[in-house]
Amino acid sequence: NANKKFHNERLVVDVNGVKIGGGEFQIIAGPCSVESREQVCYVAECVKKSGAGFLRGGAFKPRTSPYAFQGLQAEGINLLQEAKKMTGLPIVSEIMNITHLPLFDPVDVVQVGARNMQNFELLKELGRTNKVILLKRGLANTIDELLMSAEYIMAGGNENVILCERGIRTFETRTRNTLDLSIIPVLKKLTHLPVVIDPSHALGYSYMVKPMALAATAAGADGLMIEVHNDPPHALCDGAQSLTPDAFDDVAKAVFQIRPFA
Ligand code: PEP
Ligand code: MN
Repeated sequence: NANKKFHNERLVVDVNGVKIGGGEFQIIAGPCSVESREQVCYVAECVKKSGAGFLRGGAFKPRTSPYAFQGLQAEGINLLQEAKKMTGLPIVSEIMNITHLPLFDPVDVVQVGARNMQNFELLKELGRTNKVILLKRGLANTIDELLMSAEYIMAGGNENVILCERGIRTFETRTRNTLDLSIIPVLKKLTHLPVVIDPSHALGYSYMVKPMALAATAAGADGLMIEVHNDPPHALCDGAQSLTPDAFDDVAKAVFQIRPFA
């Protein structure tokens, strides 16, 4: 049950010793899409050095256009696994179809993307697994709808759910989405589940990532998800919002500085 009334303590999700929630803070960083062995291993080494606790990387990509890069799929998961072996970082990747679940065996945290937040059959199936699930808020979903989707997973017996705000659709066009930071105090009041903020997808432009990552940290987020690419202008997906490893290092340093006071 996602309702805080039924839990005395905040949920600490423990992924092979890397903890998030209940006072434990983590940065999840990596490329939007896994593009090659060199790319994902290089980015993994960089973000680890900067203090990230998890490596992210998309293998199955929910692209708006069917003609856009769809991800390396099974090969992408293999390459993530190699980067995990190299760095020891647990890996986070998005699932879109439950038939792919066996491929996600090496994936430590299974992401449900914004577009699938209300794919209830997918949520029910994930509820029957023992995978840690990172559930993103849908593009046009309320906080209560997000919590009900978490409930779909938890009702099946899987209590390890991390919630993620990644921006919502509004009339504003200067940002890709509108980052709803007010979700942090609301979720802290309503649920014991960890709350992660993804400023990369919320803002859509790399120059906005640092101030909003800091704001989210100060507001009490349990973690951040930040896209990092070795060569953002040539990224196959989401280059405009991706940080270089150097820019990520700067953001991570700033975040870790304010974190003790958050
Ligand atoms: C992603 O994390 O790469 C992604 C597709 O995110 P979202 O579902 O938030 O758009
Ligand atoms: Mn992306």
